[in-house]
Amino acid sequence: MAENIKRIFGIDLGTTYSSIAYVDEFGKAVVLPNAENERVTPSVVFFDGGNIVVGEVAKESAKLYPNEVVSFVKRSMGEPNFVFEYDKKAYRPEEISSFVLRKLAQDAEQKVGEKITDVVITCPAYFGINEREATRIAGEIAGFNVRQIINEPTAAAIAYGATETDADRVVLVYDLGGGTFDITMIHIQSEAIQVICTGGDHNLGGKDWDDRIVTYLVEEFQRSTGTDEDILEDADTWQDLQLSAEKSKKILSQREKVPISITHGGERVKVELAREKFETLTRDLLERTISLTHGILEEAKKKDYEKFDDIILVGGSTRMPQVAERIREEFSMEPKVFDPDEAVAKGAAIYGWKLSINDELVKRVARRVKKSVEEVGKNWNTVAKEAKDVVEAASKEMAQDTGYTPAAVESSLVKIRDVTSKSFGVVVTDADNQEKVFNLILRNSVVPVDAKDTFYTAVENQRMVLIRIQETETSDEWVPLENAVEIGTAILHLPPNLPAETPVDISFSLNREGRLDITATETSEGRKVNVTIETTSVISGRELDEAKERSKIIRVQ
Ligand code: AMP
Repeated sequence: MAENIKRIFGIDLGTTYSSIAYVDEFGKAVVLPNAENERVTPSVVFFDGGNIVVGEVAKESAKLYPNEVVSFVKRSMGEPNFVFEYDKKAYRPEEISSFVLRKLAQDAEQKVGEKITDVVITCPAYFGINEREATRIAGEIAGFNVRQIINEPTAAAIAYGATETDADRVVLVYDLGGGTFDITMIHIQSEAIQVICTGGDHNLGGKDWDDRIVTYLVEEFQRSTGTDEDILEDADTWQDLQLSAEKSKKILSQREKVPISITHGGERVKVELAREKFETLTRDLLERTISLTHGILEEAKKKDYEKFDDIILVGGSTRMPQVAERIREEFSMEPKVFDPDEAVAKGAAIYGWKLSINDELVKRVARRVKKSVEEVGKNWNTVAKEAKDVVEAASKEMAQDTGYTPAAVESSLVKIRDVTSKSFGVVVTDADNQEKVFNLILRNSVVPVDAKDTFYTAVENQRMVLIRIQETETSDEWVPLENAVEIGTAILHLPPNLPAETPVDISFSLNREGRLDITATETSEGRKVNVTIETTSVISGRELDEAKERSKIIRVQ
């Protein structure tokens, strides 16, 4: 790659495993193995005295030191109350995740021989505002310039799109990972990749399949030894069963049965688990993914997408043969298993590559049309139309400089349009004095999206309006308050002596990455406030600075 083009790495920060990829000199996305030569790294962190150990060793250490190891921290991203205490210090999910990111980058740097500064990180499609922000902050703590947070299924579709020659296809991405399930419909065309709609369950993944095996093993142990003791209360036994459950599950993807031994309190019980039994134990979990898929198909119909061409399976858990079998049966279509472990990181790398090529193209076009980079970047569509020749010449020149084909350079102009997986609104009081949520932005709207509505003050001489910003999973305009999550509040101060029913405009602006900006205007005097959402769900201010400082001196292994 030419010296002046910044390489942007793609990181799949997964619940159970993470990986990092980049686009090589030949324009191909490749995953970079870690120091242990594995292409995926367990997202597990072991606090080992002064050292932080990440990956396989940390995962194995969970057996011996269950209280010093953190797994599945992604499930707690954006949660204000999650802290892990170690050595009198409280660690929030962002900081713990930053250790995983550091390990990936450190090892990758060894392989590529350059410092990793800029990254694109993926997150599940239905991560809300706080979880996305937490993901970004994890990257910042690790010392990266986080160029963008993109959705995992979108990343998978980008990787898939890069391999498909037939440009116009509607695909369903069925992504069953370690902790999350995403189902997303995407329209891939030569000039754009458009997400149609997305849904899923952020508490459904391979871990739940493991848990079913664990429960079964406990029952078998109890039956065999005649005890009614809850052996999971013993932290060592719990860890042990978790690890053997996951191992056995993976073996069952290859074989018909697996022997498992359970050791607890000096007793040992041997169990043979058959694939058929495993499928029975977990059938309802699989069925839930099917019903969520139907939900998305219904939503797609509302957007005039009546059918799809392919189902692609991504995420490690789609290796379980029953997944493809059930999909085949339900949709009478052969699902395509597409790079289950690597598609997301590769897609993020391709996205990063497009960003870097695009940045350079904008720079070169700006130089030629004698305008600032910011101006050209902002008005790219107009510039690209009015100065088509200039864009073509700059693309050709870049192709020469970088060694990529002009077509590859121009492919960086492919637009990627995503949708919001949540609805956003405010709390209003209805005529019966009941508090409800009114959604200004509805789920599955194409982002970026702006929305504005007018609300009215309740009483005469009201001096302030408390704006309570809510996030919901439905696509209804009105939602009961108990079904919403408050993501922040803001206050609009009003001048004295306004009559009741004074109009107040509230505007929401959701950017491509899921960041929400809010403006409130009292229309009679044009008093306007830009509302900053106050949230305690992510690290900010001094706490963030401290975490960044700590990160500089903590060694990750
Ligand atoms: P991901 O988050 O996409 O990396 O997926 C990780 C999940 O995939 C974990 O729950 C793994 O246990 C699961 N997984 C990985 N390989 C297999 C396999 N061969 N069979 C069943 N599950 C697997």
